[in-house]
Amino acid sequence: MLNIIIFGAPGSGKGTQSDLIKEKYNLLHLSTGDLLRAEIASGSELGKIADSYISKGQLVPDEMIIEILDNAIEEKEKNGKYNGIILDGFPRTVAQAEALELLIKKRNRDITILLDLMVEENELVERLVNRGKTSGRCDDNLETIKKRLEVYHEKTKPVNDYYKKQNKYTVIDGSGNIDNIFDRVCKVIDIINEDENVAS
Ligand code: ADP
Repeated sequence: MLNIIIFGAPGSGKGTQSDLIKEKYNLLHLSTGDLLRAEIASGSELGKIADSYISKGQLVPDEMIIEILDNAIEEKEKNGKYNGIILDGFPRTVAQAEALELLIKKRNRDITILLDLMVEENELVERLVNRGKTSGRCDDNLETIKKRLEVYHEKTKPVNDYYKKQNKYTVIDGSGNIDNIFDRVCKVIDIINEDENVAS
């Protein structure tokens, strides 16, 4: 089982790389951003609350996102057979990393690795501003992007230490061409896969 966390600042390419990774390794892709946007689009009360945070560049409350993720894993795993999961946009706080530990243990699994896509701040801002021209996302404007980056440094980056302590942290150069970045990602995953095959 491959249970991967794809990590990085807003605009670091988590979603793009997740799409490629899930296809190649047959993983269930869970993007908390996508789950929240689906909730907003449904017009539910939960979606309205989520929207009030997202449009300001803030994180939605931990309890809310943990419950949404837990339900999504349950639901989506019923409808498909996967070699593991790829978490995109979660965990985003240390409290979420702790909750994930329980959530994954109760399914008799473990996190395999965290892949941290490293991209320079000016490249991040440029990518997000460009995405904003076509994404229609309420949070892809300069003011909200700046807030999201602030929140990332303050609340999300410390999640790395949590996985460093468990020797599950790997940094990936996330700059440049999408295919080259994907090659770097695959090299790391393939080494893990080989090790797992040797061990079993
Ligand atoms: P990006 O990584 O580019 O910021 P996402 O689609 O992952 O885009 O997230 C968009 C927004 O959704 C975040 O700014 C945040 O408000 C909310 N969100 C997503 N995942 C989480 C999470 N795990 N915890 C709290 N809020 C989240």
